[in-house]
Amino acid sequence: ATPTAVMVATGVGANHGVLIKGGDALERAQNIRYVIFDKTGTLTQGKASVTTAKVFSGMELGDFLTLVASAEASSEHPLAKAIIDYAYHYHFFSKLPTSKAIGKQSKEDIISEWLLEAVEFSALPGRGVQCLINGKKVLVGNRKLLMENKVLIPMEVESFMVELELNAKTGILVAYDGILAGVIGVADPLKREAAVVVEGLKKMGVQPLMVTGDNWRTAEAVAKEVGIEDVRAEVMPAGKADVIRALQMDGSVVAMVGDGINDSPALAAADVGMAIGAGTDIAIEAADYVLMKNSLEDVITAIDLSRKTFSRIR
Ligand code: ADP
Ligand code: MG
Repeated sequence: ATPTAVMVATGVGANHGVLIKGGDALERAQNIRYVIFDKTGTLTQGKASVTTAKVFSGMELGDFLTLVASAEASSEHPLAKAIIDYAYHYHFFSKLPTSKAIGKQSKEDIISEWLLEAVEFSALPGRGVQCLINGKKVLVGNRKLLMENKVLIPMEVESFMVELELNAKTGILVAYDGILAGVIGVADPLKREAAVVVEGLKKMGVQPLMVTGDNWRTAEAVAKEVGIEDVRAEVMPAGKADVIRALQMDGSVVAMVGDGINDSPALAAADVGMAIGAGTDIAIEAADYVLMKNSLEDVITAIDLSRKTFSRIR
């Protein structure tokens, strides 16, 4: 392709909200053999919503939700946002109709009225969050997080988790002071175009994969819904890059599509990294493509554009 053709293609991409960082990236996309999708926020809408909250200790449900929301208040994760939102609605409606809040205060103000102070907060990528509330350790996250902290998961809790996961939901475990306090079930629906795009890629001779930090049962339920056969679950952020390197071993061109929250190492390791949506700044920096519209269809647009620009039939 001539420099002019590359410039034209870059312009066409930009008009579609597909930002391409240079001619090399544009050229590599024509030969993509594998497209690896992150699950949360990439294949799914990333607008998780809480479907169930179950207390397994003596705690009152309202107090439990306050505790969890307070622990998640400093997290950027879509799961954290869902939990805080659920707690907000729970408290808001349980106070009706006397709440002075109605129509007057912002959501943030209302939340700050009941939020507890959390200190020593840390976000643990691929696992969850931890902090101290009332001087006691609070853990919110997956089995791995609780196991690392030697918190026992009672059998009735484990079966509740499995039930959620078989239904494509993510179960979030909560421990307070070393004891399992409860579980929050979260659903994150697929993007509407996800299945069609997966099907389209297969027709183009590109193999789709899904990689996620979420557990195997949820991952497989979601993959089945979207039509992806090759799934890698319970992968830590750094592990996503390893999955890519393994696929590159035979010289295959590998693309990674991620929304940013801890996908940067994978976006950088891929031959073609595609950051989707507004994403985070680090992800956009690590990527070769930015898909501004947050639509998976643009993965196909990007490959098409490259194939047309560098068509072997000249
Ligand atoms: P993905 O790879 O699907 O984008 P992540 O690597 O972000 O997922 O997270 C993996 C898992 O770690 C989540 O499914 C969840 O169980 C847990 N986790 C991560 N961050 C949080 C959080 N802020 N609150 C609760 N759980 C979390
Ligand atoms: Mg993600």
